[in-house]
Amino acid sequence: MRETMAVEAIKKGTVIDHIPTAQGLNILALIQKRDANAQVTVGLNLPSKGSGRKDIIKVEGWLFSEEDAGEMALYAPLATINIIDNYKVVKKFKIGLPDSFVGIFACPNSNCISHPEPVPSRFKVVKKEQKVRLRCHYCERTFSDSLFK
Ligand SMILES: [Zn+2]
Repeated sequence: MRETMAVEAIKKGTVIDHIPTAQGLNILALIQKRDANAQVTVGLNLPSKGSGRKDIIKVEGWLFSEEDAGEMALYAPLATINIIDNYKVVKKFKIGLPDSFVGIFACPNSNCISHPEPVPSRFKVVKKEQKVRLRCHYCERTFSDSLFK
């Protein structure tokens, strides 16, 4: 990993743009959990048109699916995914919230049977009055998304 101010072009891969500042490293951790050898460039606190500052992450060689991107939704629901091939943006989409998260977050309930991880964690995304909450498949408790950030 190297840090750079410049948003250099990549030949083939994914650029995650408009990540809220301070969430870039959380997203980096998710990427490295999926692929420890991913070739990643991170830009933190870059100036952003209109919205102050942002983080940007570029991943070489890995073209994100909407499912890949959905894992990052809790940290950066409004981030933009740019799929790059031959130095051109061939696809662009917003991250958006998935219906569930599997194997990403540990259950905050220490008595939950998903500890000490004999099974992948599993949460259903529940949206209520603009708030995002996650319901554990195992203990059926519902948690505020702030517990996972
Ligand atoms: Zn649980």
